[in-house]
Amino acid sequence: MYSSSMIGKIAKAKQYALEPERIQFSQFEASFQGENDTHTIHYDHGTWSCDCRFFADHGACSHTMAAERVLGASTHAQHALDSAVNDQPTAR
Ligand SMILES: [Zn+2]
Repeated sequence: MYSSSMIGKIAKAKQYALEPERIQFSQFEASFQGENDTHTIHYDHGTWSCDCRFFADHGACSHTMAAERVLGASTHAQHALDSAVNDQPTAR
């Protein structure tokens, strides 16, 4: 059995999970399984990088752009966090 205080935390976790902009990644590395090869992508304080050839030439690629879409608000700049910190009801 969960204690009542733990039940409160679970309820809060469920609410928080609906507001992913509260979570801001600082940096991470991930493997990305592309159509032909598996690539390594990095995220570091707002900057993406990838080890694929296209990224080296263009500074962006399908891997980093896909990861950005998947991770959404957790990898965006400060404005997303600002709206989360305000105590207003979410209007999305
Ligand atoms: Zn790439």
